[in-house]
Amino acid sequence: MDFSDDEDTGALRDLLRRFIAREASPEMAAQWDRDDHIPRDMLVKLAETGVCGLTVPEEFGGMGRDVMAMVVTILELAKRSTALAGLYIMNACYGSLNIAMEGTPEQKQRFLPGLAKGEIIFAYGLSEPDVGADLASVKTRAERKGDTLVINGTKRWCSGANFADTILMLVRSGAADARYKNLSMVLVPTDAPGITMLRVEALGVRGIPTNDVMLDNVEVPFANVLGGEAKWNEGWSLLAGPALEIEKLETPALALGVAEAAVAEAWEYSQQRQQFGAPICTIQSIRHMLSDVQTKLQACRLMLMSAAWKVHSGLPSAVDTSMAKLYVSDSARDIVLTCQQVLGAYGYAHGFAMERYVRDVLVMPIWGGSSAIQKNNIANLMRLPRK
Ligand SMILES: Cc1cc2nc3c(=O)[nH]c(=O)nc-3n(C[C@H](O)[C@H](O)[C@H](O)COP(=O)(O)OP(=O)(O)OC[C@H]3O[C@@H](n4cnc5c(N)ncnc54)[C@H](O)[C@@H]3O)c2cc1C
Repeated sequence: MDFSDDEDTGALRDLLRRFIAREASPEMAAQWDRDDHIPRDMLVKLAETGVCGLTVPEEFGGMGRDVMAMVVTILELAKRSTALAGLYIMNACYGSLNIAMEGTPEQKQRFLPGLAKGEIIFAYGLSEPDVGADLASVKTRAERKGDTLVINGTKRWCSGANFADTILMLVRSGAADARYKNLSMVLVPTDAPGITMLRVEALGVRGIPTNDVMLDNVEVPFANVLGGEAKWNEGWSLLAGPALEIEKLETPALALGVAEAAVAEAWEYSQQRQQFGAPICTIQSIRHMLSDVQTKLQACRLMLMSAAWKVHSGLPSAVDTSMAKLYVSDSARDIVLTCQQVLGAYGYAHGFAMERYVRDVLVMPIWGGSSAIQKNNIANLMRLPRK
């Protein structure tokens, strides 16, 4: 398979680069990071390019699902700002893909046209104070009372919940002893009475702040169960099914975008910075660092695009996506830390993009299924015998 850009991918990258040059300057990216806030209208502007339609079927105003194009979009946006790429993920992945894949006809009608226009933003509410990797142990409960669900509990690390419209939330919807069985995914409006939020400061990916979301007798219509009656108590199959394959591509696309930006900066800096009467790019150890990061970048690109192509083509992809999440996240962290060394003190100081890249990349091996969890997945999926 040839993963070099075809005509369509080249045109998409051009479109995004023109958008970024026009609408998202480096100063704006630094400002979103400083303020821990990105204006919502950035998404509406982005939607005008059409990219929010890449995960929406044509009958709802999109261009049909294109996983490869979605990955390229995340990557190109992340080169300028993880907040901008995060905004796109909240719309196109958390929102459009989940609704298009699993929503009822009514949910598709309700959400997809607005999602394609960049008018609707979703957050993802899986984690809880005591629930990290072990998602099947969620404690937030949804009780069914006729046509209404009553939800109680606390969600943690809910990125962007403070400005999102809807949280796609994993809840316990029956007895806790049936771990993987009694779970459901519910669409919870962020303005529902009984919801309070508390911002939690994090090191990176600032602009999409994380939040604790407390739910005290929050009532939502039963029609807000993702997939409706048929998917009540079937949340695990939604979480661990095709949606997981997409989710495992989001972080490596983000990570690769950050790593590409860091390498471009280090490459350029090494030619400008003079020490001992010559640019530092003439020093062998600097040349080796830069050769190493370029090589790792290329390996990451191939691994990510190969996994994305399998997901896009509907081929078995669970091992590939876990390997991409693992390898690209860990490698991107190593690449960015090497680039920081090339910049010396200027890679450590506020006001230079490099220190933001460092803060942003550190979370990639942690969230969305940590590197250790991906290693477990790979060994299990490849049927390595267990005790
Ligand atoms: C900035 C940020 C934003 C986030 N945004 C969201 C969001 O929008 N929505 C959301 O739901 N969550 C979000 N998260 C949560 C994120 O997905 C979790 O951090 C992740 O699921 C892991 O959970 P944990 O950090 O609590 O680690 P834990 O599960 O407590 O793990 C702690 C350590 O133990 C290791 N470990 C745990 N279990 C195993 C095992 N079985 N085998 C080997 N090692 C293991 C882990 O790898 C890790 O090193 C966010 C987190 C951060 C930091």
